[in-house]
Amino acid sequence: MSGAPPFRSGFAALVGRPNVGKSTLLNALVGEKLSIVTPRPQTTRHRILGIVNLPQAQIAFVDTPGLHREARRALNRAMNRTAASALEDADLVVLVAEALKWEDGDTLALERIVRAHRPAILAVNKVDRVRPRERLLAYLATVSSRHDFLAIVPVSALKADNVDVLRRTIAAHLPESQALFTEGQVTDRGMAFRIGEMIREKLTLELNQEVPYGIAVEVEQLREEDGQLVVEAAIWVDREGQKPIVIGARGARLKRVGRSARLALNGLLGRRVHLNLWVKVRANWADNARALRELGVE
Ligand code: GDP
Ligand code: MG
Repeated sequence: MSGAPPFRSGFAALVGRPNVGKSTLLNALVGEKLSIVTPRPQTTRHRILGIVNLPQAQIAFVDTPGLHREARRALNRAMNRTAASALEDADLVVLVAEALKWEDGDTLALERIVRAHRPAILAVNKVDRVRPRERLLAYLATVSSRHDFLAIVPVSALKADNVDVLRRTIAAHLPESQALFTEGQVTDRGMAFRIGEMIREKLTLELNQEVPYGIAVEVEQLREEDGQLVVEAAIWVDREGQKPIVIGARGARLKRVGRSARLALNGLLGRRVHLNLWVKVRANWADNARALRELGVE
């Protein structure tokens, strides 16, 4: 018997149906905003890596787009593929579900996990919404009969409640291994990507339901000018008719998006940012595999 516990390291994929709080949970687990969050399903389009270092473990969390059954557009099929391959490549899967709500989409995600033979922990999220709290116990009992989970952990990603327990539970089930990433590395995504995602979040929040899923953001240039970081970014829309919606009356909407994105970027980068946004049309980009690749979705 040796004294020290072994060091553990590996990939833990966060999977589940859209909108259960996977991205909020990734940010809470990592303690940094890496993945964008909106009240709308299908906000996450890419695989997002977030690395956490603990004294005896390093966890590489992978946030994924929500798995959904209906996938007619090329964009949605690409998102499903991204989620499925992250799941298959993971050492461990964290199935994220919502307290008191088990839907067909949860069953679909669980089926994927079983088919991929991945060990799974169930994170029951949004427990802050459960009133009275006793209702949670009955729910935990029914979900535990659905699958032989390594553990079931109730959390509130939004309030960072019990997230430390989930982190430790995940770490304890990773394979024995040396750290996979150098200390200090938080993600594998570059700054241009994170800036583009931050702009897309503010845009999605501002647009509500008006331009459903037809938006992509591409950071075209980052440059230094008079001690400021200047960001030139294109907002790609699907159709000519969406351009005036994004721009708004006398440019008011685009101005609001620019302002909130700039504030978020000032916080992210810890410095002043000057942001120029351009709305551009690329017909049916979400149905077009080449356009998706060029916009970095695949
Ligand atoms: P994803 O699609 O699974 O990545 O879900 P998101 O992280 O984008 O979250 C979807 C919505 O659920 C957002 O409006 C979040 O603020 C909200 N949400 C996420 N976690 C919690 C939670 O623990 N409690 C509550 N009340 N809302 C949450
Ligand atoms: Mg998400």
